[in-house]
Amino acid sequence: MESEFENWLSTEKVGAESESCLEWRRQFFDWWLRWEECDTGCDSLRRQSAVAWGQYIDYECDTSLANGFYSVLDVLERSARDGQVDVRLAHAVEVREQSRLVNGNVTPRQLPQKIDYSSPAATIVHCSNGATFSCRLALITVSLGCLKADDAIVFMPELPTEKVESIKAVEFGTINRVKLDFEWPFWDKKNPGYMILWKDEGRNEEKVTRQNWTRHVVGFDEVVQQPNMLMAWVSGEAARYLLL
Ligand SMILES: Cc1cc2nc3c(=O)[nH]c(=O)nc-3n(C[C@H](O)[C@H](O)[C@H](O)COP(=O)(O)OP(=O)(O)OC[C@H]3O[C@@H](n4cnc5c(N)ncnc54)[C@H](O)[C@@H]3O)c2cc1C
Repeated sequence: MESEFENWLSTEKVGAESESCLEWRRQFFDWWLRWEECDTGCDSLRRQSAVAWGQYIDYECDTSLANGFYSVLDVLERSARDGQVDVRLAHAVEVREQSRLVNGNVTPRQLPQKIDYSSPAATIVHCSNGATFSCRLALITVSLGCLKADDAIVFMPELPTEKVESIKAVEFGTINRVKLDFEWPFWDKKNPGYMILWKDEGRNEEKVTRQNWTRHVVGFDEVVQQPNMLMAWVSGEAARYLLL
């Protein structure tokens, strides 16, 4: 896309437009790349699967929940209050134990069996607070990062090879958003939000640091049902600095 864009500029625009106009076009293109990185949740479009990207379908309308995600929380909260679901906080499933130092030597600890589905009769889930649950069926919905981590949950028996390979193969990036709550909305309500165009000045080549991560912010959008709020998006390396 970068080379196509530069081709298009040089064949159709260079010579026909002023330098400042060409610079604007480059800044828009750079913004669009940053936006796509956020939208697809990848660190760099260079690492994005073109096939998967091609399968992505944009809805024509805004698909936000009418009352925001609160409507989901409300149902969950009501179900918990009515005793229909039993939510247990601070019940982490135990993860693979780290090696430990014994007499100066690193000895791998015996791997604990933390989600044991070896018996067709019951699956047993062990939690780090000592609780165990025996159930007919366990749905494990920890994120991909938790499944990929060195201290990932141990399954007994190991997950099927196909799943292990998929967990290894699928990658993910980092996106973060920052919500800013103002006393009043000072922006144009008909055309809300601000997108940021950056002069290149080597921005894409420079190392991201704690001082310059803001130069990778895509822009600020309004937030559904929060009239005084703007939300900034940032992805990749810069998004990880935001957390430091
Ligand atoms: C900045 C950002 C903005 C986003 N914006 C949107 C948006 O506007 N709309 C949208 O639809 N999606 C959005 N997403 C994506 C959405 O948040 C995720 O797709 C969704 O939260 C994934 O849900 P999940 O239940 O699969 O995983 P998670 O929400 O990650 O839930 C996994 C759960 O597993 C638990 N867990 C992990 N390890 C253990 C363990 N050992 N024992 C017990 N529990 C464990 C975790 O505590 C967590 O609660 C956004 C994501 C990000 C990061």
